[in-house]
Amino acid sequence: MYLHGTSRVNEHGHLEIGGVDTTELTSKFGTPLYVFDEQLMRETMRAYKSAWDATGLRYEVAYASKAFCTLAMCRIVAEEGLALDVVSGGELHTALKANFPSERIHFHGNNKTPDEIEQALNAGIGAFVVDNFHELALLGALAVEKGVVADILLRLSPGVEVHTHEYISTGQEDSKFGFDLQSGAAQQAIQLSLQTKGVRLVGLHSHIGSQIFETEGFKHAIDIVGNLFAQAVKEWGAKDLSVLNVGGGFGIRYTEGDTPLQVQQYIEAIAEGVKATFDSLGLAHPEVVIEPGRSIVGNAGTTLYTVGSSKNIPGVRKYVSVNGGMSDNPRPALYQAVYEAMLANRATEEPTEVVSIAGKACESGDMLIWDAKLPEVQAGDILAVSCTGAYNYSMASNYNRIARPAVVFVQNGVADVVVKRESFDDLVSLDVVPARLMDGVLSQS
Ligand SMILES: *Cc1c(COP(=O)(O)O)cnc(C)c1O
Repeated sequence: MYLHGTSRVNEHGHLEIGGVDTTELTSKFGTPLYVFDEQLMRETMRAYKSAWDATGLRYEVAYASKAFCTLAMCRIVAEEGLALDVVSGGELHTALKANFPSERIHFHGNNKTPDEIEQALNAGIGAFVVDNFHELALLGALAVEKGVVADILLRLSPGVEVHTHEYISTGQEDSKFGFDLQSGAAQQAIQLSLQTKGVRLVGLHSHIGSQIFETEGFKHAIDIVGNLFAQAVKEWGAKDLSVLNVGGGFGIRYTEGDTPLQVQQYIEAIAEGVKATFDSLGLAHPEVVIEPGRSIVGNAGTTLYTVGSSKNIPGVRKYVSVNGGMSDNPRPALYQAVYEAMLANRATEEPTEVVSIAGKACESGDMLIWDAKLPEVQAGDILAVSCTGAYNYSMASNYNRIARPAVVFVQNGVADVVVKRESFDDLVSLDVVPARLMDGVLSQS
């Protein structure tokens, strides 16, 4: 397992993160446990900002909170001076509860409900990223009703798609997100928003994919959206248009095969693309917004499990089961995501066997890792799976009524719980038993 950030093997032969021995973490907080390297998250946020500072462009770095959204995380993002993307009323509520500056919140999503739009208008968020005509009309009407004007960006689907290592241009854009350029919807949406009361068009947005390892796709999208930007300013009188949001999707290293660029390389390429496109169009440089999610939290997260049963099928494979699985990390089951692992309590021992790590849920598909090279694994060992910071806790479920793990942030030798472990009583706390079913054991309790 590759050691990211402050992760290291300490003098006891244990995995240590943020200056805290992971075996101490597991005895204190139990397993499964999500551990976040706070210093690594902060360093990555700072790396994005300093990379932008070097470009001379105006910019905003917005953390895509869907990757991992809790009160403490929102506090860190606020402290580091980033903006925040939310995609639901729940994420917005979390940000507001964390006292995140509302003017730095952007609201995304392809089906914002009237309630969510009202919640965001009441909070006075910085901008809505409008996804479709229905939302444009709804937002305009609700804003007029409240006597406010909402700043909006339009989400465009520029016909650039990224498939991890490569990008492709697609003529026909098949996506549930955004206004499509090919069909003319994007052009129409710009003109319509300029006439819609209650909204002010300040920017154009595109997001071309996730886990991107190259920069050509971004440049291509900037060129396409930049040309439309120019048309909007020059021909349609979009006088307030000043923001170009190029989305997120910056790739991270999960395993050996992943070869992400440095933060600085992504930003330099995007800045070059923006300058080249806008210079050639004779337009002032826009404020550029990026929206990294995975790349801020992904490598910073490690999940610690306790090993339980194993099953050896001679000549076939050996299964080793841990006390979590798809309920805390659905990504392998959802999209064949690949992870690396190590034994946190025997971190200096050489790998001697190849085993497959199974979760405890009642699904054959609940496999965390196929063919992991590990020392001979025993019941009671602590298995650490790295790079679980993004889309693990945020996608966790209670399938099989498995309680969700606690989350701790570690830094400088200190571990702080930022999400408590769910209890079995938490699991039934929202259940209601109608009076007609109340008899026997339940009525006595
Ligand atoms: C999901 C998403 C992001 C973040 O993507 P990552 O791959 O986590 O960086 C940014 N912007 C938009 C619009 C998204 O939907």
